[in-house]
Amino acid sequence: MEWIAARYQRAACPFRPLTEDEQARVEHVAAGCAARVRTALGLARRTTAAPYPRPRCSGQFLVTGGDGELPTDWCEADGCHWARPARNDAA
Ligand SMILES: [Zn+2]
Repeated sequence: MEWIAARYQRAACPFRPLTEDEQARVEHVAAGCAARVRTALGLARRTTAAPYPRPRCSGQFLVTGGDGELPTDWCEADGCHWARPARNDAA
């Protein structure tokens, strides 16, 4: 596999270097593969609809998170946010 990396990096190797279009294609495919792996491992940031409407306005409540960052949440109807507790990193 090192020869493939060498072609991508345009290092000296017995094959012609990749064109810029080919390098862009490699980057596109690699990014797609990385995204699928993160999704399969449950590490990708994703948005999920809550199974109940927001009590105050009856809008659909959406939560985005799952990637280790603070989750974000909002109401699809009016963009209101649910109050969230402060992050406790000391625990
Ligand atoms: Zn709302």
